[in-house]
Amino acid sequence: PDRIVCGNGSEELIGILMRCYLGENEQLLLTQNHFVMCSIYGAGQGAKVVLAPEKEFTVDVDALLERITPETRVISVANPNNPTGTYVPATDIARLVAEVPKNVLLILDGAYAEYVDRDDFDDGLHWGDSTSNVVITRTFSKIYGLAGLRIGWAYGPAPIIEVMNRLRTPFNANGSALAAAAAAITDQAHVAMSREHTARWQERI
Ligand SMILES: *Cc1c(COP(=O)(O)O)cnc(C)c1O
Repeated sequence: PDRIVCGNGSEELIGILMRCYLGENEQLLLTQNHFVMCSIYGAGQGAKVVLAPEKEFTVDVDALLERITPETRVISVANPNNPTGTYVPATDIARLVAEVPKNVLLILDGAYAEYVDRDDFDDGLHWGDSTSNVVITRTFSKIYGLAGLRIGWAYGPAPIIEVMNRLRTPFNANGSALAAAAAAITDQAHVAMSREHTARWQERI
């Protein structure tokens, strides 16, 4: 429990992390086609938003690493990404985790992690156990289909989760959404059905 915090959608948790760890004139590093709420929250903090170019509409780990400066405080990567729909293989994420300085927060946004069924993909949750600076965000809005209820969660090192708990409002995740999420997570048949349905229609599109 001390490594997890729920929120009014994972988007709220990303916002809380930006409020906790990003200050005026500090640097938020994102990929070119990032999840847009990240740069909105970053700008709201008065931070400088730095964008790393992508290759083939895919996050370029080297381009991100090259842009880290002493002012960099937060890096956020959605894997798979929205709006591009591409993903970074586990080995590249491992390199990113290894090379990002330990005083920089790395957010791995796994909003679409459940959809990926490839051998070289890893949802990255284990980084929340084995590092001091990586937080993973997840949501019930996508494969679970509960976007309107607003419920997501963040998983990571206890000291970071503790800081998030200090800054979040005490009533951020509502009771109906928490009850629905607790029920939904037991329904993995729905998750499998939704994953297969999406894969089938992805090909067609
Ligand atoms: C949808 C989405 C979110 C936020 O979803 P919530 O409904 O706030 O949980 C975060 N990141 C990405 C990449 C998304 O597509």
